[in-house]
Amino acid sequence: MTFKQQLIDWRRELHQNPELSGQEVATTTRIRHWLESAGLRLLPYSLATGVVAEVGHGDKVIALRADIDALPIHETSGVAFSSRNDGVMHACGHDVHSSVILGAALLLKEREAQLAGRVRLLFQPAEENFTGAKALIKAGALENVSAIFGMHNEPGLPVGTFATRGGAFYANVDRFVLRVKGKGAHAARPHEGHDPIVLASQLVIALQTIASRDIDTLDSVVVSVTRIQGGNTWNVLPENVELEGTVRTHRADIQKQVEKRIREIATGLASAFGAQIEVEWFNGPVTLINDEQWAAFAMQLAQSVGYQTQTSQLHMGGEDFAVYLQTIPGAFVSIGSASPYGLHHSAFNPDEALIEDAARYFATLAEQALLKN
Ligand SMILES: [Zn+2]
Ligand SMILES: [Zn+2]
Repeated sequence: MTFKQQLIDWRRELHQNPELSGQEVATTTRIRHWLESAGLRLLPYSLATGVVAEVGHGDKVIALRADIDALPIHETSGVAFSSRNDGVMHACGHDVHSSVILGAALLLKEREAQLAGRVRLLFQPAEENFTGAKALIKAGALENVSAIFGMHNEPGLPVGTFATRGGAFYANVDRFVLRVKGKGAHAARPHEGHDPIVLASQLVIALQTIASRDIDTLDSVVVSVTRIQGGNTWNVLPENVELEGTVRTHRADIQKQVEKRIREIATGLASAFGAQIEVEWFNGPVTLINDEQWAAFAMQLAQSVGYQTQTSQLHMGGEDFAVYLQTIPGAFVSIGSASPYGLHHSAFNPDEALIEDAARYFATLAEQALLKN
């Protein structure tokens, strides 16, 4: 079997057998087996799911990371190797990322004698719920690693296209819940209560002014209210309305400013309406910040092996890889996958033609990164 076919077969096997974040048990078994069969050393970290392997010898260590989890989506792509686990789908292409890094592992094993150090291969669980990177770091997977690299496929770019950027790349992700507590009343006698529906409506509108009137228009920020719930019939004003949403930013100071404004608006409106608004805040993944030099290094190498390269736009999505980059330098890159449907879509179908070239790219990237100081 050709190298290319092997990687496509592995990708399809992973695709047919997707598992949700933190439940990647069979996926872990498969990846362990494939790596062991190719002669790679598995490192004995204690992990519920996920695999860490290594190739090469010496003190210097460069890490390559793939993610392995899938999403709670019913697949409608129509491909012959569609998910056999109904309601679960590799709709973010983590099956593709895994086969790319498996391919890089095989190539590095062939070049083991000439490597100027070790390459550690991280097959990370639970990317989608942003807990996997933390778990691997806690287990010790970044020990002695001087730089880390990883990829995401990019459905909007053609195969053969490569993009990255130095500095901030993927967004900081926060989630908020706002609980409006008013006073219920007969719908025909609203003056006897504090209508939380009218207040919640004002609140949604007021939150729009954060992006449009509080933050410099040249800085990136999204404030989205994504859920609003209250009341259960037509002739009663309810006691409570709950709103939920997300904030996306690329700078810590702006993130803090947005949170502060949301709290101020909530407090101010509540007092104006004689009601209460409780704010609950959840910090998600931090901004992914690529090391400038490693991003330039990754870009140059991509260009020299034949990729069409471009500087990425800022991403408003989050990516768990950001957590590694808080600890050690490295670069996260995008590689074109030319899917007519985007990430997290039930018909997402990345072009497998990217896999072999990306595997060759990552093997060379790790090999050359070992030679850099
Ligand atoms: Zn995803
Ligand atoms: Zn993803």
